[in-house]
Amino acid sequence: MHPKQLLERYGLMPKKSLGQNFLSDENILARIAATADLQPADRVLEIGPGVGTLTRHLAQTAVSVVAVELDDRLLPILQAELADLNNVRLIHGDILEQDPSRLFDGPYKVVANVPYYITGAILRHLLDGTHKPTMMVLTVQKEVAERITAVPPQMSLLAVSVQFYGQAEIAGIIKAGAFWPRPDVDSAIVRIDLTKRPFPNIQNERAFMRLVRAGFSQKRKQLRNNLQALGLNKKQLTAILDKAGIDARRRAETLSLAEWATLYETLWPALSAQ
Ligand code: SAH
Repeated sequence: MHPKQLLERYGLMPKKSLGQNFLSDENILARIAATADLQPADRVLEIGPGVGTLTRHLAQTAVSVVAVELDDRLLPILQAELADLNNVRLIHGDILEQDPSRLFDGPYKVVANVPYYITGAILRHLLDGTHKPTMMVLTVQKEVAERITAVPPQMSLLAVSVQFYGQAEIAGIIKAGAFWPRPDVDSAIVRIDLTKRPFPNIQNERAFMRLVRAGFSQKRKQLRNNLQALGLNKKQLTAILDKAGIDARRRAETLSLAEWATLYETLWPALSAQ
């Protein structure tokens, strides 16, 4: 049954404030599930299952699915719609308050058509945590997908912080008309493969991200000025940037992941000596 009919039957209206835009096209749902390259042994975390259309696809292949839904009105629908599946665990709650290490004791993948109002917060919550997924397949606003997968000179704090943890790519576009209710903009499926971390030798994630955040702290300012936020003076930074082979006048948006890694390795001794 179409999500619209289903909600009507329960006397419900979609909540814009919770980012409710439902998918029902079987081909699109199958494509999202296929993008996660699901294997029979995979465990999946789904964020915002809605009325369970994607959940069903995921549960057909994966060994188990944990689906976290915030809207209590949808829980009875999910229970009824997924009653025939014994490998789905429904959790009523806010994804940002769930600790993945309590939900999974081994590897897991995240697959979700996420509520767009908290895309950034969801990424931070899952990527900064200690028990990260091995793969994330997220349907997000197309513009956000483009920002996540950007290349120099269009990098941003979001792009660097996602690409530091894995290989990110846009796996497909979903037109606005495929959703009900229809959102204002098109969406894209983003695939982040965390098994392909570009610089696995950088183990101090916090220190690396501290550097990157400082670099992006003020838009369009030169790197050398922004990095002073780390407590190093201009002279020290000039020397460090020179050693790293990075022009001190460049802006953070123009640095590649490899350049951030080099800068980190060069700067780290000065930072930890503070
Ligand atoms: N996956 C469904 C629904 C997507 S709409 C589909 O593709 O059709 C986004 C869903 O996320 C809604 O069901 C909404 O209620 C839920 N949601 C919103 N904020 C949430 C949060 N903080 N934690 C968990 N789920 C949330």
